[in-house]
Amino acid sequence: MITKRGVAIIASVGLLALSYGALQLNRNSVYYSMTKSYVERNLEHIMAEQKARLGISCAGEPLLHFEKSPIILTTYVLNKEGTKPILDKRGRPVKAKMILEANYIPADDSLMFYTSEVSTPGLLDRIVRAVTFSGKTRPVDGTINHELAHRYTDAVCKSLGKKGWALANQSLSEGIALSVEVLMTGNEAESLNEIPPGSIAGYNAVKEIVAGYGRQGIDYIIQNAVPGEDLTQFKERALNDLAMMSGR
Ligand SMILES: [Zn+2]
Repeated sequence: MITKRGVAIIASVGLLALSYGALQLNRNSVYYSMTKSYVERNLEHIMAEQKARLGISCAGEPLLHFEKSPIILTTYVLNKEGTKPILDKRGRPVKAKMILEANYIPADDSLMFYTSEVSTPGLLDRIVRAVTFSGKTRPVDGTINHELAHRYTDAVCKSLGKKGWALANQSLSEGIALSVEVLMTGNEAESLNEIPPGSIAGYNAVKEIVAGYGRQGIDYIIQNAVPGEDLTQFKERALNDLAMMSGR
């Protein structure tokens, strides 16, 4: 038999769960509008900075799309199947953190931002992450710089008639975007955190090329990479060729 007190407890637990859910939804909306206004306000000057520092530019601004991804309640980073937490070197589950997911979509020349966290750890963690977002803009700047690099790569590929290049040379394509991101934000450790090994290999192969030659280096990579070529050999060949071409 459920007592009156029992009913009251059940009711208040229900109310608590409801308001917690509403709070989560509300935070998701706040995060959405913060991200949207940040990207809209900063896109132009980030594009100008890329042009000034690396010579990278495309015609006009890309379209911007924002989407709220569904909230997934989990405290840890899960494996691809979503069944088990990923463990660190000491066997402890890796805690989830804020990730601003984004894509460059060539079909309509747009940047797509998914503006909620991949995972939703505890309430305190979310507040910390919101403060981190507004106080320290690097993670978002990194994402914008990264996707703009994909946009530039796509434009060069199109102009050279190499439409499927990025897919056929995925690690180099990711390497270019990561190199631009790191050069523009100056935070290598943050940019390389949780990046798949293939992309890290691409990054190690091209970072000096992009850092030393900017746009010329990126154009060289797209024009001269041979799918399947050993990345260390490619790097050596590229740095030699570029040094010759620019009389260094
Ligand atoms: Zn990328």
